[in-house]
Amino acid sequence: MQSKGGLALKRLFALTAALALLLTGCQSQPAVPTETPSADSHRDAAFLAMDTVMSFTVYGPVAEEALAAVTERVNGLEQLLSVTREDSQVWQLNHAEGRSIDADDDLISILAAAQNLGYSTGGALDVTLYPVVRAWGFTTGEYQIPGDEVISNLLEKVDYRAVSVREGQVSLPEGMEVDFGAVAKGYAGEVCADLLRERGVTSAILRLSGNIQTVGAKPDGSPWRVGIQNPNGQANDNVGILEVIDQAAVTSGGYQRFFEQDGVRYWHIIDPATGAPARGGLTSVTIVADSGTLCDGLSTALFVMGREKGLDYWREHRNFECILMDEEQNIWVTAGLADAFTLVDGSGYTLRIVEE
Ligand code: FAD
Ligand code: MG
Repeated sequence: MQSKGGLALKRLFALTAALALLLTGCQSQPAVPTETPSADSHRDAAFLAMDTVMSFTVYGPVAEEALAAVTERVNGLEQLLSVTREDSQVWQLNHAEGRSIDADDDLISILAAAQNLGYSTGGALDVTLYPVVRAWGFTTGEYQIPGDEVISNLLEKVDYRAVSVREGQVSLPEGMEVDFGAVAKGYAGEVCADLLRERGVTSAILRLSGNIQTVGAKPDGSPWRVGIQNPNGQANDNVGILEVIDQAAVTSGGYQRFFEQDGVRYWHIIDPATGAPARGGLTSVTIVADSGTLCDGLSTALFVMGREKGLDYWREHRNFECILMDEEQNIWVTAGLADAFTLVDGSGYTLRIVEE
């Protein structure tokens, strides 16, 4: 384990190095496009936001202005949704001591979407888990294993159903706090894709860490090719390639943010039922759907649920497709992605198509 300052410096260094790699054309993110089509009329931007590297490529005649607009949009969302910036609305909400606050449309939308996903996943996604996430040190870098009593006391203040979302106003019961780490990058990708479409863009790829959001197909009409990372490997070690057109593909895994103590790995995806890192037997979850917010929320929720409950959820809803990797080196791919997913030769994984 390490000190907060040491970790912050290490993370800043890692992000800067990742940004430098992106700027020099190398890839370093969990799920990355494996190729970029050549076309004269495209613009790229790589920048740091939401504590990660964002890398956007937009094609077509309005690429430059459209790219500037979406970059500004992401920065605006970070300013609104950050739990650590004292001038954000989320900070204001978390410190309102039970009072309602005036909320921007984006905060209303993301809170309502997160609450709906809380209901539909039976609480596997719960954005009021923030005090528990913080107790483990995942927001501060001061990693620790909280005692059982600390966790059970904190869990008493965890309940997505208690969030009040009304037109223009939101509130939380006193002592409750939210964080959108599990959904904000998906939401950001989704609203940026909509903005690009409104501006007439028909081809773009937005990489927000492990979140990929595409607009249309590549300029030559072929699908975008997204690498699915080996959870036990390096960032550019892909076990499969996924083809995507005009949709989002979001990956969550226990390998993205974690610490180790006494030989045990503790990751940042927490099971709201226990207040401890989710151990449902999965190592990585990728969700593909039209809505980036849905993808991000479900990538976290299905990681919590584990394979059987996760696939039951898919059978019940069928508004997304998924790729689940388990600890036994199986890769479960739902029927709608059977043609879009290719296992890399020698990956060591067994491909299992889930027909229904
Ligand atoms: P996902 O799987 O999508 O989500 C996991 C994250 O969601 C966890 O990190 C936790 O925050 C939360 N979570 C865990 N379990 C659950 C659950 N069951 N239900 C709901 N939520 C859960 N990190 C920093 O270290 N410093 C920063 O300054 C910082 N600023 C940020 C600003 C913004 C606006 C956002 C959106 C994120 C910021 N982050 C920051 C990162 C954030 O804290 C998460 O670490 C990150 O979003 C995790 O993304 P992911 O895709 O890896 O994980
Ligand atoms: Mg998520």
